[in-house]
Amino acid sequence: MADLPPPSLRLNLDEGALAANWRALDALSGTARAGAAVKADGYGLGAARVARALKAAGAQDFFVAHWSEAAELEGAIDMRRLSVLHGPLRAEDAAFGRALGVRPVINSVPQARRWLESGGGPCDLMVDTGINRLGLAPADLRDPAVAALEIDVLMSHLASADEDSALNALQLDRFRAACAAVPARRHSLANSAGIALGADYAFDLTRPGLALYGGVPRPELAGRIRQVARPQAAIVQVRMLSPGESVGYNATFTADRPLRAGVVSLGYADGFLRCRGQGALHHQGAALPLLGKVSMDMVVVDLSAAPQAGEGDWLDVPFDLPGAASACGLSQYELLTTLGRRLRA
Ligand SMILES: *Cc1c(COP(=O)(O)O)cnc(C)c1O
Repeated sequence: MADLPPPSLRLNLDEGALAANWRALDALSGTARAGAAVKADGYGLGAARVARALKAAGAQDFFVAHWSEAAELEGAIDMRRLSVLHGPLRAEDAAFGRALGVRPVINSVPQARRWLESGGGPCDLMVDTGINRLGLAPADLRDPAVAALEIDVLMSHLASADEDSALNALQLDRFRAACAAVPARRHSLANSAGIALGADYAFDLTRPGLALYGGVPRPELAGRIRQVARPQAAIVQVRMLSPGESVGYNATFTADRPLRAGVVSLGYADGFLRCRGQGALHHQGAALPLLGKVSMDMVVVDLSAAPQAGEGDWLDVPFDLPGAASACGLSQYELLTTLGRRLRA
């Protein structure tokens, strides 16, 4: 097949910033080691690529949610250091996990039995300490199937680590009780926000995701976390608008003066959702307000502040996560994980 022509949309990934964020979170984890959550395709940035970069920075333990996500990391990291958070829902999952050599996170007594029946081997165990999502209830920890497991990481997940909530200390107490009840090689409680809660929450292994990729879930992390993802989109057409002409679906913008407009190769299919329509793209620092609605593959900007910008020129898409999230009412997680695949063409 012929070579692909250059794209009109791209995602610049600052691997230096990604590595620096991991090192900062590892240092903040104190005597614990920081791992890395690379689920949801590396929070939208490309799982294999970010896993390789994080491994080069020093990360050893990785976490994904799905079995398909584990398969995608083969060759990028040591499979024995990969945990699959959803665990074995079916016998096929357990067989697949054994074949791949990864560790399932056991979330229930039936999952524990299923893993043992498949032949068992090293696994992790999730205990639910109050989020009421996946994980065994503390009372289930006494089950003989749990006692028969070969547990590497005993873990739990915080519900409100990004807030100053009484639930944090309650979950910490319950997790300590679980650690006393079940033998395991290592213990792990904190996600990105949990790392900022202090040394009590760090145990042996922390599991940051969001903050690796530039998200700032708690004020303590501000100034320590660098922006990693910088999307850019090209102007694909320049057009002159006359007063009275409208732009885009439903004609929500009408020019009140002659206006030079740029049609940009970026749309909601790329994760640039309509809630971002009040914002601007940038050309060499100049803010170019959006005109009309965001379409699937295009947005239109006012080029008045960049008279020299023309077809083929790249525009910067603001992606400072805390700022972009608060501007459009989405979580920083949603902004990352909805980034479309076309950005990585
Ligand atoms: C997603 C996830 C993490 C990472 O959380 P962040 O808030 O992104 O740091 C850690 N642990 C578990 C169990 C998760 O599901």
